[in-house]
Amino acid sequence: DSQQPEQGLNGMDLIVDGWFHERGVLWPGQAMSLKVEEVLYHGRSLFQDVLVFRSSDHGTVLVLDGVIQVTERDEFSYQEMIAHLPLMAHPNPEKVLVIGGGDGGVLREIAKHKGVKEMTICEIDGDVIKYSKQYLPGLAVGYEDPRVTVRVMDGMEFMLANQDSYDVIVTDSSDPIGPAGVLFEAPFYQKMYDSLRDGGIVCTQGECMWLHLDLIRPLVAKISEFYQSVEYAYTTIPTYPSGQIGFILATKNRGSVRKPARVDRELEKDLRYYNAELHEAAFVLPSFARRAIFED
Ligand code: SAM
Repeated sequence: DSQQPEQGLNGMDLIVDGWFHERGVLWPGQAMSLKVEEVLYHGRSLFQDVLVFRSSDHGTVLVLDGVIQVTERDEFSYQEMIAHLPLMAHPNPEKVLVIGGGDGGVLREIAKHKGVKEMTICEIDGDVIKYSKQYLPGLAVGYEDPRVTVRVMDGMEFMLANQDSYDVIVTDSSDPIGPAGVLFEAPFYQKMYDSLRDGGIVCTQGECMWLHLDLIRPLVAKISEFYQSVEYAYTTIPTYPSGQIGFILATKNRGSVRKPARVDRELEKDLRYYNAELHEAAFVLPSFARRAIFED
């Protein structure tokens, strides 16, 4: 049965009367709907159900296991924030690792930093890379940068085998049902910690404060036992559940990342969402979320 959550939802089953309805167990009782113009690709990779469609008003949309990953209309708000929050909080990031992020959008943003010397991406699913290159060239352009090295393997296995050390690690993962489950557990955060240089920063997809405080709170509490600082920021994004998604930022032998270590107004001219003022604002949480994540 393609509807069993552990197998991931079949994206085609979610298209009814020309609309894609994002129904899923991680956001009970609600669904984001997008009008479908044309299905461009549907198939099952080794790891997940992959659907790409052209929508009426949101450009091309990538869906994995029935969950919207990217729409061309608003992806910049996520990609810019998950990349530039940690990179601008670091005074001189040179070596950067991306886990997940197969669409290439995070690479595209990291590539805007001239001081970065090496970018490695570890994406589990070669089909996501292949179909993003085919249907989402505005994101997959990130792969064209000569500083990029691509590894197609599980992020946890990569970290276990990896002897390298990074200034910034960005984990741009899908949700914790499916292959990304391991990326939401403390052992993965421990491996990332071990792979950071002194002063290094990790920034991970941190789900949604309106829906997932039960997941965020224990994870933040657990990793606060070994990272020096752990903070939570968020961005607005209309096509993710509840219109928001958060980021967990954690540091190795570095204090708070709430203020950017660098302000680069030239770089900001090339961005549509991130700016130095928004950097600081992104960490200011509504009281219910601040209490639930850090105080209660
Ligand atoms: N930028 C979008 C977002 O906000 O969610 C897209 C996320 S990106 C497409 C998520 C990627 O993480 C997927 O391509 C998925 O294949 C990958 N992924 C899931 N589990 C993984 C794992 N264990 N190791 C490496 N990559 C993984």
